[in-house]
Amino acid sequence: MHEIDFASIEMTLDVMKYAIDRITNRNPQMGRPKKEEELRELVGETITDKGIGGENAFRLFRDVLVKATVPIDHPRHLAFVPAAPSRAAIMFDLVTSASSIHGAYWMEGAGGIYCENEAMKWLVSLTGLPKPAFGVFTSGGTAANLSALVTAREHWRRDPENENQKGLILTSIGAHSSIKAMARVIDVDMLLVETEDAMSGRALQEHIETLDPQQRKRLFAVVATGGTTNAGIIDDLSGIAEVCEFENLWYHVDAAYGGGALAADSVRHLFNGIERADSITIDPHKWLFSPYDCGAVIYKHPEQARYAHAQEGSYLDIFKDEGAEGFNPADYQIQLTRRVRGMPLWFSLAMHGTDIYKRAVEEGIRLANLAGRLIEENPAVELVREPSLSCVLFRRKGWSPEAYRNWTYQNQRDGFALVTPTKWKQGDTYETVARFCFINPHTTEEDVAAILRTME
Ligand SMILES: *Cc1c(COP(=O)(O)O)cnc(C)c1O
Repeated sequence: MHEIDFASIEMTLDVMKYAIDRITNRNPQMGRPKKEEELRELVGETITDKGIGGENAFRLFRDVLVKATVPIDHPRHLAFVPAAPSRAAIMFDLVTSASSIHGAYWMEGAGGIYCENEAMKWLVSLTGLPKPAFGVFTSGGTAANLSALVTAREHWRRDPENENQKGLILTSIGAHSSIKAMARVIDVDMLLVETEDAMSGRALQEHIETLDPQQRKRLFAVVATGGTTNAGIIDDLSGIAEVCEFENLWYHVDAAYGGGALAADSVRHLFNGIERADSITIDPHKWLFSPYDCGAVIYKHPEQARYAHAQEGSYLDIFKDEGAEGFNPADYQIQLTRRVRGMPLWFSLAMHGTDIYKRAVEEGIRLANLAGRLIEENPAVELVREPSLSCVLFRRKGWSPEAYRNWTYQNQRDGFALVTPTKWKQGDTYETVARFCFINPHTTEEDVAAILRTME
C-alpha cells in the first residue's frame, strides 16, 4: 500500500493547485451533461488491476469529467436552489476530510462535535426556540425531515392507544417533495391542504375538521414550510402553531431552503411562530454558504429525538461510558457513522462572524427584489407573484412550456446560465412559468439583465 502514501508529488501539487484555483474562481466555467457513452469514450476504463496513475486519473477529472457538471456556485445558476459555499467553509471541508474524525459519538469526535455544536447554538438562536432546544447536522433536508418525522411518530406511539396505528400527517401542496417521500419511508399517510400559497392556521383547522374520527385519531403531525422551494412562501407559522397546540399535534417546520433567512432582519418577522415548533429543518448547504452536504434538524425537546433514534448494540455500549460522556450526534438522527459536516460552517462563522452571514442572505433578497423590478420594466415578461424571500416567479408572455424548455437548454448549451422553468398552480390549473432563486451574493444586476435579454 506504500505506493498510495507516496503518490507522486506532482499529482499532489496538481490536486492542490486545482483546489486553490477552483476555490478562488468566482466565475467557474458552466459545464453541461454528456451522455454516459460519450464520457466513457472520452475517458476510457479508469478502474483497472494496476491503476491508471494519479496524474492520469486527475487529468481525466479536470479536463473532461468536471466539465460535465454544472457548478452550483456559478453566479448565473439560478435554478432549483443553488448554493454559494464560502471559501472558508470549502477550505475547512478539506480539513474535515484530512482530520478523519468520526462524528457519531463524543468519545471519538469530541473536538469536532464541539465545533459543530457551536455552529448549532447559533442556528438554534436564530429560531428563537427556548432551552433545552438543540439540534444536529444531517446529510441534508431530506434526512432532517425524516429524522424529525420519525421522532414525531415514535413520540405519538408512546401512547399505548397508538401503538399499532398507522399514522397520518397533514401538510400543504407547497411542501417539498421529500415530505411525501419520507412519509412513504416511515409508512404513514399524508393529506394535503390544497394551497400552494401560504397555508393558514384557519385552512389547517378547517381541514382537520373534515377528517373522519378514525383519521383524526391517526393524525399526529403537521408540516409547515418556512420558505417553499418553488416560490419562497412562508406558511402562517403562528396560526399553525396555535392549531397544533390546541389539537395536540407535533409541529414540524421545514425551513430547509428558507431557514437561512432567519438571519435576515428584513424578513425575520415572517417566521414568527417558528419558535413554537417541535422540530425544524434548516439546510446550511442551501442558504448558509456551506458546501454539500450539510443539513440540520433542531428539536424543541432533544430527549424526544434520543428516545426515537439512540441505537442499541453491545459494541456501542462503550460509547456511553462515563469517561466518554458528552453529546452524541448519532442519538438524534437516522445516521450512525457520520462526517462532522457542521465543521465547515463552524470555521466560516468563527472566521467571519455572523454579521456577514446576515448581509450575504440579505443580498439574495435584494437580488430577488431587483429582478422583480427589472421584470416589471420589461414588456416581454411579467411577474406571476411578488418576489418572496429570494424566489421570483415570472412569465414570458406568449410562451408555451416547450418554449421555456428550449430557452433553458439553449442557455445551458451556450455555457451561459442555468435557469429552469417550474409550474405554478392557480385554481385547478398548473401554468409553466420561469423561476429565479438567488443564493449567491456574487450574482450581479447585469447577470439578471443579461438572462432576461435571452427571453426577448
Ligand atoms: C431542498 C429542500 C428539502 C430537501 O433537502 P435536501 O438537502 O435536498 O435533502 C426539503 N425541504 C425543503 C423545503 C427544501 O427546499
